[in-house]
Amino acid sequence: ESVQVNKLTVIEAYSVLEADGLVSAKQGAGYFVNNAMLSPERSSTLETDQEVVIPSKWGESFFDQYMDSLQAQLHPDVIDFTSGFPRPSGLEDLAKIARRAMTQVADVLFSYDFPQGQFTLRKQVAQMLAWKLGLEASADNLIITNGSKQALSLAFQYYLRAGDWVIVECPTYHGAIAILEKMGIKVIGIPMQNDGMNLELLHQYLRSHQPKLIYTVSTLHNPTGITTSQSHRRELISLAEKYNCPILEDNAYEGLNFEPAPAPLKVLDRSDLVTYIGTFSKSLMPGLRVGYMVSTGKHYQALVELKLLHDLHVSTVTQAIASEYIASGHYRRHLNHLRTINHQRHDRMLQAMEQHFPSSVRWTVPNGGLFIWVQLPNHTPMQIVGQEAAAQQVLIGRGKLFFPDGQGYPAFRLNFSQSLEDIDRGIAILGNILKQHLA
Ligand code: PMP
Repeated sequence: ESVQVNKLTVIEAYSVLEADGLVSAKQGAGYFVNNAMLSPERSSTLETDQEVVIPSKWGESFFDQYMDSLQAQLHPDVIDFTSGFPRPSGLEDLAKIARRAMTQVADVLFSYDFPQGQFTLRKQVAQMLAWKLGLEASADNLIITNGSKQALSLAFQYYLRAGDWVIVECPTYHGAIAILEKMGIKVIGIPMQNDGMNLELLHQYLRSHQPKLIYTVSTLHNPTGITTSQSHRRELISLAEKYNCPILEDNAYEGLNFEPAPAPLKVLDRSDLVTYIGTFSKSLMPGLRVGYMVSTGKHYQALVELKLLHDLHVSTVTQAIASEYIASGHYRRHLNHLRTINHQRHDRMLQAMEQHFPSSVRWTVPNGGLFIWVQLPNHTPMQIVGQEAAAQQVLIGRGKLFFPDGQGYPAFRLNFSQSLEDIDRGIAILGNILKQHLA
């Protein structure tokens, strides 16, 4: 049975579509669907209502530095070595996967969900942790979080109160330091060595200060890229057991290792002391905001309740996309691809540094991850070096941000996930600046 529609209604409908930019009218030919609508991958450029500026000040806080890096993303001429942003590529299939995820589980997607996250995703993550890392956890030990940053906040809030002592590596992830500072936690920074934090000093401070938590980035550490050795891990766990001190193990760079890394501390944990944190930010894409934590014993339920209090749960849509991406086999392939290109970039950056940096400069040679940590002689005018580099559109991080007391030796962190051309150009610029100041 046909339905009569008034011609005027149709014309009106088309003019609404035209006003929304979805169709264009062509004189004498009719209406045409705009190209942008036809291509699912249409928008790769970011839009902002802010003016694009090259940072003139040199990121003085975690917040400043993060904002500088966001600005730099909008400006193709700026080479940003500062940020912890990975530069994902080869994700062309993600839009298709996302559409499939949306249609397959639409009834679940459109409602509220469990605070600990979707069962399917928790089970997939548990399986990956078991086969990749030997970490035997069940879906009931997992909480899906809004990036691992939220997992950090939840764990800090669960274990710490204002005035407590916490132990961190020195240097350490500045995003963690920033949370601890805001919470009024007193931070002890234990110097980082080639195989992990100095255990003698750790022992000393465990005895003298009775800290409530040890925070460690055990594998491909941020900012140094160092992986804590197997023997160090065993000793760290036995010290934590001896002093009954919980450990927060942040494994944000898992999956980006060029060679197998030692098993996580959580694998060695027999007393529910370790909370383990992971994320899809570095291994897939940060914008997805999907991270997770593994917790055992009585702590699990308490952390799930805390998650509920914070934001109920992570978006069902992003969880479904992550889940579908894993199920399709794309994730495993993507990681192989990412490791290959990151390895090339890592090698290229080290090669360029050898060529351009003065001999008094030292740096770490990481086994994956994103970062190379550069240590400079004590007299280096870091502020000037950073500002001169920024003036030539090369951003380097303020090394001091990674030290809990804001002091420490002159240093900066380099992110090697750039194009090879940017690595060559940026390191040559930095090398020239350093030579002028370290002659
Ligand atoms: N932990 C570490 C060590 C990091 O370097 C980062 C990001 N730079 C995070 C946690 C937070 O990442 P996300 O919230 O995107 O998972």
